[in-house]
Amino acid sequence: MGSIPIGRIAGFPIAVNWSVLVILWLFTWSLASTLPDAEPGYPTALYWVAGACGALILLASLLAHELTHAILARRAGVRVFDVTLWLFGGVTRLGGDAKTPKEAFRIAVSGPLTSLMLAAVFGAAAYGLDSVGAEPLVAAVGWWLAAVNLLLGLFNLLPGAPLDGGRVLKAYLWRRHGDPVRAGVGAARAGRILAFVLIGLGLLQFLTGSVVGGVWLAFLGWFIFAASREEETQAVTQQALARVRVGDVMTAHPHTAPADITVEDFIHRYLLGDRHSAYPVADRDGTIIGLITLVQLRGVEPGRRADTLVREVAIPLPEVPTAAPDEPVTVLLERLRSQAGDRALVADSSGLVGIVTARDLSRLLEVYRIASAPSQAPHH
Ligand SMILES: [Zn+2]
Repeated sequence: MGSIPIGRIAGFPIAVNWSVLVILWLFTWSLASTLPDAEPGYPTALYWVAGACGALILLASLLAHELTHAILARRAGVRVFDVTLWLFGGVTRLGGDAKTPKEAFRIAVSGPLTSLMLAAVFGAAAYGLDSVGAEPLVAAVGWWLAAVNLLLGLFNLLPGAPLDGGRVLKAYLWRRHGDPVRAGVGAARAGRILAFVLIGLGLLQFLTGSVVGGVWLAFLGWFIFAASREEETQAVTQQALARVRVGDVMTAHPHTAPADITVEDFIHRYLLGDRHSAYPVADRDGTIIGLITLVQLRGVEPGRRADTLVREVAIPLPEVPTAAPDEPVTVLLERLRSQAGDRALVADSSGLVGIVTARDLSRLLEVYRIASAPSQAPHH
């Protein structure tokens, strides 16, 4: 997505998308062009310096908002991948849902509360600076930071996914009906309505002369529309998939590759003329010690194939995601996502019983997306 990692805060990887430059510029510009009216009499360059400082502090405020989400998610046992700043503020990528509606509510509401708190802090600081007769330009930037944080806090509380208010709504519906998936669909639909309202307001603003603000609002509405549709599809697909077990989609009795043949042998005796692209690797006594896929084979230079053993290049078993045949597919999908894997070995108490590949899973997802009416999901 064009994001640059810039380091870690509180253990969370922080990244910045190039589009942050757009908002940094927009905020600097809007501040530098409104300050001369509010506090006249300074040199032009100073307004731009004040604008840039204000914009940077605002970016830090956005980061604080996201970090509160991240900290509360971690406390609730939800994995946090990273925090990214971009055109519409920040995104905290989470590896799944909270376990209870209460925790989901806390994670969602914490960000806007941070923004509102920052608004109060900046407001108080600006008031203090004003009353002790400090440099008026500094106080004006403080008031601006208070106003924008207030707006951000309130805007994010609008009840529609993917906004924080949508997550709050989801937590509420979840607690009320006891079904997180249905609650997710409800919040996503509310998000779509909200998106239409924003697009409408944006067009209205555009037509009445506020071109930049109008376009930005309509663009934001469009983004919320797309994201809420994606969330709804995901929720409905999950609902349908919840009944499918790993055993239903795995390839049973997968061909295994002996650990002690050469890569050359393996390619000719197994890979050619077979439709599989991943093989569990078996030791002489039949125990599975790892997995070999086309990726590992590609890593062996053609000249070395005859004297490299399969066991030397296979992914060791502890690094291969595994699943049980009676586990829900959705749990496995979540696991693969968090381990960045694209296939899993399926084992029960008797040993290896199958293999699930990314292709099996993406086909399954595609099929369920097509048949996305939840009531038509097959029973197993
Ligand atoms: Zn937020």
